[in-house]
Amino acid sequence: MIAPKPKLLGPDSTIGILGGGQLGRMLALAAARLGFKCHIYCPDPESPAFDICRRFSEHDYTDWHALDRFANEVDVVTYEFENVPAETAAFLSARKPVLPDPQVLATTQDRLSEKSFVTGLGIATAPFAAVHSLVELEAAAAAVGRPAVLKTRRFGYDGKGQVSIRDGSDLAAAWRDTGEQPCILEAFVPFEREISVIAARGLDGKVETFEVTENEHHDHILKISQVPARITPAVATEARRIAETIATAFSYVGVLAVELFVVPDGAGHAVLVNEIAPRVHNSGHWTIDGCSVSQFEQHIRAIAGLPLGRPARRGRRVEMVNLIGAEAEDYRDWLRVPGAAVHLYGKSAIRPGRKMGHVTRVEE
Ligand code: AMP
Repeated sequence: MIAPKPKLLGPDSTIGILGGGQLGRMLALAAARLGFKCHIYCPDPESPAFDICRRFSEHDYTDWHALDRFANEVDVVTYEFENVPAETAAFLSARKPVLPDPQVLATTQDRLSEKSFVTGLGIATAPFAAVHSLVELEAAAAAVGRPAVLKTRRFGYDGKGQVSIRDGSDLAAAWRDTGEQPCILEAFVPFEREISVIAARGLDGKVETFEVTENEHHDHILKISQVPARITPAVATEARRIAETIATAFSYVGVLAVELFVVPDGAGHAVLVNEIAPRVHNSGHWTIDGCSVSQFEQHIRAIAGLPLGRPARRGRRVEMVNLIGAEAEDYRDWLRVPGAAVHLYGKSAIRPGRKMGHVTRVEE
């Protein structure tokens, strides 16, 4: 079967979104502003995105009848999480354009293929080695050195599936802790800062990058993003160049995020890629209130074949704080803070580590 070609979407078209979390919800809100309808597909009955869309399908990602009906009802399919099963993406892309192209999922779902892809472009990452057994872990630890981080190749997020390897660490125990799954061992990066770049590439191949964002994680979960990042102009230029190079190399259509480490290097800094997210990203939430175009609108523009916006920050400084777990109970206090834009994702159950909402402040 020949895959349908992406095309310019007219007003009133329907965008299909795989995944019903807060990212899908904010994508659907941005799509609505541009006159599009959204159909959200997600197996979770409590999906935050279901609350605000025209239609939703609450089915498994391998329910082929439901996916066929979904494909018939939408004009383009996109996704808000990277672990869409490969067979689901292939099934849909035989019926409707799927953007970004599913080959990007295949590369970014696996830390080994992702890092190999990045280094193949001549872009630096932390030194890494593939690990499929305890014997390989011992060899990798000798090659990469310690401290290091052992990460499962698949399904890792927010620090899940990661084990630190220090000088005295027992490698056999670390290997057991990962569930003896295919892993990579990465050298620990003594970073000065973590930053990210959100890039958008349109159907016409034009790329727009957002200003570099500085990110602070607590317990491996993003807590604060701020713009401008406290980095040199050289680091900013290099980070944006890396994101543009990756978007172009993938022939990407839509928004992607590149997470990077900034490391002191002689008189200057080195910039290393940590991870690519083939989707809108938490570190780009500041763009809703703090930028002339949001990452969500930019993604919808890209997949609809519309011109991309030229991002320009509002104000002198923008800060986004995640409301994680019980912190969301303080939202009434945030509503009293002048200029604070409060976003709640409509999740009823508060759980530790769960992203419940965020607050953005634009400083004039
Ligand atoms: P990841 O899931 O790979 O994005 O890792 C989550 C967080 O763990 C990162 O944002 C860093 O704060 C930390 N981290 C991951 N890999 C490394 C590394 N190789 N060196 C230092 N810190 C790391």
